Amino acid sequence: MHTNQQTGPVYIVGAGLFGSVLAERIANVQKRQVMIFEQRAHLGGNCYSFDDQETGINCHQYGCHIFHTKNAAVYQYLTRFCTLNSYHHRVYTRAHGALYPMPINLETVNKFFHLQLTPSECAAFLQQKIAAGRIESPQNLEEQAVSLIGRELYEAFIRGYTQKQWQRDPKELPAYIIKRLPFRTSYNADYFDNPPYQGLPIGGYGEVFKRMLDHPLIEVRLNTRWQDVKDKIPADAVVIYTGMPDELFDYCLGRLEWRTLDFKWETVSVGDYQGCACINEAAPEVPYTRTHEFRHYHPENTAAAKDKSVICREYSREYRAGDIPFYPVDTQRNRELYSQYQEMAKRSGRFILGGRLGLYRYMDMDVTIAAALQCFAEEFLSGRH
Ligand code: UDP
Repeated sequence: MHTNQQTGPVYIVGAGLFGSVLAERIANVQKRQVMIFEQRAHLGGNCYSFDDQETGINCHQYGCHIFHTKNAAVYQYLTRFCTLNSYHHRVYTRAHGALYPMPINLETVNKFFHLQLTPSECAAFLQQKIAAGRIESPQNLEEQAVSLIGRELYEAFIRGYTQKQWQRDPKELPAYIIKRLPFRTSYNADYFDNPPYQGLPIGGYGEVFKRMLDHPLIEVRLNTRWQDVKDKIPADAVVIYTGMPDELFDYCLGRLEWRTLDFKWETVSVGDYQGCACINEAAPEVPYTRTHEFRHYHPENTAAAKDKSVICREYSREYRAGDIPFYPVDTQRNRELYSQYQEMAKRSGRFILGGRLGLYRYMDMDVTIAAALQCFAEEFLSGRH
């Protein structure tokens, strides 16, 4: 243990959710100095949102981020910096030329099969479909989906979307990815499985991060890459690193794979373009996965333009050097490579990896906040650093 480590400033690479929560905790609770290096020109990482100047609509620059959690402590923590609006996520998906509720629910099943089943009839109907698939213990995303909803619904709503999102056969993807989606035999159309706390920060995410990091002990250096400052940092200083772990170690063991997203933005001359916040595209021949219409995420914003709307289409593709990494690709090869980098970080005695990139884990916002609070307790409150 180094004296310098416990008294000197803590350096944080990345002002996203994980890095910002740690900075806030270290400054407020430990009264310790924090310096954050952020390579972008703004705070908030991929959660960042901004008010579009032309329309006054709050837009999520890196795809929509809807806060939802069952964890009361995480909710209480976040709402110290914002008030959440009343938005509850609901999604439609287009398949075979029609729109259906997504996640798959009673309305989706009835519309797709031209039936009028009740919830218990629907459960029995799906059981027959599932039994026909004969999958004992699902080993991958496809088997998991077929064992939850049967083959026809899987083919119509899951296979094409999943292939576009991951550019892999769903048989090569882990089962847990599809468990992010609920499947229901009721008319409940909420995207998330009824978390008690859900919404978007009134005023957008930009303000949340400004409030979180507004502390005399926190200094943020925007437009600053770790590579450009690392030689000026004391060699034993503790560094919370929320970027790509392979980059931290100069790719010495090889490159981790990521998925990136391209966004095509458009301001349309109509107040309501699609009637809801998000429409997915299940068909493999439609090149984008979903269209967001940002005004619907903030129904409380009555000052936004009434005759225009901002929409954004999401295209998923393989990450290449220089792109923004969004999703880790959970294959055995990547998991093994990541654990070697994680071992290197541990052995360094000074690098703490965190966030979706640093932990190479497909985490939602609430899980990221919980992981940051846990990291603060284990690494700092414990006296280790
Ligand atoms: N998914 C799908 N069809 C949809 C929506 C989701 O097949 O209309 C599958 C797809 O495999 C996706 C996973 O469910 O990767 C998780 O979706 P989620 O909306 O949670 O993804 P995220 O919002 O994190 O991109």
